[in-house]
Amino acid sequence: DQMNPILEVEALDVRYGPVRAVRGISFGLSTGGITALLGANGAGKSSTLMAIAGVVPVTSGRVTLFGHTTTKSTPDAIVRSGVGICPEGRRIFASLTVEENLIVAGTALATSPVAAKRRDEMMERFPILGERRRQLAGLLSGGEQQMLAVARALMGAPRLLLMDEPSLGLAPQMVDTIFSIIEELQNEGISILLVEQNAALALEVASHAVVMANGEIAGQGAPSDLASDELLKSAYLAA
Ligand code: ATP
Repeated sequence: DQMNPILEVEALDVRYGPVRAVRGISFGLSTGGITALLGANGAGKSSTLMAIAGVVPVTSGRVTLFGHTTTKSTPDAIVRSGVGICPEGRRIFASLTVEENLIVAGTALATSPVAAKRRDEMMERFPILGERRRQLAGLLSGGEQQMLAVARALMGAPRLLLMDEPSLGLAPQMVDTIFSIIEELQNEGISILLVEQNAALALEVASHAVVMANGEIAGQGAPSDLASDELLKSAYLAA
């Protein structure tokens, strides 16, 4: 792992029929840290994340995870290789309980004793989920559902976490909570690729930022350089 970066994206193209959503972008993540993927609505951030996750097919280019080419890998193979996914909109199972959501995730990712141990760890890490373990997930608040989505992604003990707009639709206090969780995970050594609408907030926690506009990379660098940069402003106005 010292030699291999966590993630390399090379000349990635994602098309939906005639729509070229991602246009030959290249970037990489080295071990540890939070990389923010920023840009206006429709810039291609989610498509990039979902192509890395194997959920959306790669039209051309290459994705390398932990030193292995995964361009054509299935999402389950990618998750089992050590990638956790927190999709946009959380996508938890509303009609299952909190605990059942974690059981479903764990079943595919670990032997049952390991999965049971990780479930207990999640209940400790997120006490509110512990308190509500037998409640239907659909009855949780938005922030609690996001915690559940994070807990579910952690069931596979990932080395890389892909997060799509974790703060979307949450009350400000809950946004703070979610961001402290993101920082905590980073401190534990998990690398994070964070797509975030709230650029200011993302730049506060990120160690590196990649800015997309119209399917391309408009720029990248240290958050301290980008925060004051015109680039970011224009990327957000581009849409
Ligand atoms: P948002 O924050 O709105 O999700 P984004 O930066 O994540 O924006 P994408 O969701 O990746 O951008 O979308 C990039 C482009 O691809 C947009 O023009 C979008 O309309 C288009 N697009 C996304 N998904 C599909 C799809 N399934 N079929 C057709 N076009 C799509």
